[in-house]
Amino acid sequence: MTDTDTDYDIVVAGGGLAGLSMLYHLHTAGKLGEKRVLLVDPERKEGHDRTWSFWEKGEGPFEKLVHHRWHQVTLHNGNTHCSCALRPYAYKVILSNDFYGYVNRILDKLPNLERRFTTADQFLPTDDKVHFRMQGEGYSATHLFSSLPHPLDYREVNQPYLDQHFRGWFVETDEDTFDPGTAAMMDFRTPQEGETRFFYVLPFSQRRALVEIAIFSNDHLTTEAYDVLIGEYIRANWTRGTYRVTHTEAGNIPMTTYGYPRRRGNHIYIGLGGGAARPSTGYTFYGLQRQLARMARDYPDITDTRVWPEKHLLYDATLLRILQERKLAGEELFVNLFRDNPPARVLAFLNGESSLWQELRLMATTPVGVFGSTFVRELL
Ligand SMILES: Cc1cc2nc3c(=O)[nH]c(=O)nc-3n(C[C@H](O)[C@H](O)[C@H](O)COP(=O)(O)OP(=O)(O)OC[C@H]3O[C@@H](n4cnc5c(N)ncnc54)[C@H](O)[C@@H]3O)c2cc1C
Repeated sequence: MTDTDTDYDIVVAGGGLAGLSMLYHLHTAGKLGEKRVLLVDPERKEGHDRTWSFWEKGEGPFEKLVHHRWHQVTLHNGNTHCSCALRPYAYKVILSNDFYGYVNRILDKLPNLERRFTTADQFLPTDDKVHFRMQGEGYSATHLFSSLPHPLDYREVNQPYLDQHFRGWFVETDEDTFDPGTAAMMDFRTPQEGETRFFYVLPFSQRRALVEIAIFSNDHLTTEAYDVLIGEYIRANWTRGTYRVTHTEAGNIPMTTYGYPRRRGNHIYIGLGGGAARPSTGYTFYGLQRQLARMARDYPDITDTRVWPEKHLLYDATLLRILQERKLAGEELFVNLFRDNPPARVLAFLNGESSLWQELRLMATTPVGVFGSTFVRELL
């Protein structure tokens, strides 16, 4: 640290989902008090740029922001149709604009929180501080939580890796089309093209839904190509009538057991850049909230920075390897898991909160030879 460094107790670099959630949990745990706190991000996140879906039991920390919840979901492939009652879980959706607005309003009232609309870089942890730079000036923090992106090139990752790339349309139909009580969680009725391709349909009313295609592969499509697939899917499975696309969203989530950095001294990596996406599904929201709430409770003595239990990362490496090498087709694997198990067992597993007994029972319903040999390979 130089004499001219400005010092903070807590710095959060990146004010998207992870950065805002970190500050929210520190605030609700009563840890911000008189601390000098800085949030740095070139933009103030406000709009509807993503839609977070996840499942949980009971009420979560952002329950009042839930835009819609479903207790019933369906899964389809050409051969099998499953309709699953989720209780005690519910499948929930939060719109990013509601989340950003709510958390930003709380943070705006904190007298000790300073915001800077710029970038932070050159992070350098020393024994008791983390040094960094903003606009050429030196700063330091006792704890620095960063959620900056960590770009990966799948060709250089020596671990199972699949991108999950997706594009969704918010549609409004002219006739009653959807059942707002049932979400289509995975619908594989689209040409698979040697990949894992599925739709999910989240109906908010009989005439309004999010229809999104997700593809697990390292070859991305053009916007027009996703749009053709979405249009064909709606026409084949939902309506031949007229509808309007009122909003779109798109993105990519790397699904990988790559060893993302977790911490260097008191520089703690959070969010996607800290490995918060569940490698086998890409779901991030639930695991991230659980991790950040725990770290906020533990602050300032944070020792456990894990998002997913280690054994689950081994299961994920196995599953990803099977999908990447097409040892089993994703459309069979996921639908059969729900067909052959109580949904709560599958959801507990995917949230990383299952018992060993549940995991063994789940695995007994999969093609044991393929899973067993791939598991041993990943273990070694
Ligand atoms: C369209 C979309 C839909 C998704 N849907 C789901 C879903 O349904 N369920 C789910 O669980 N997950 C979902 N995800 C995945 C994941 O939950 C989100 O990507 C989530 O926003 C990740 O949070 P984050 O904080 O890591 O990244 P972001 O929210 O992207 O935040 C990173 C922030 O860092 C800032 N930044 C970058 N560089 C710097 C710098 N040098 N200094 C300071 N700030 C910087 C950026 O401006 C940005 O605000 C979705 C992702 C997308 C893109």
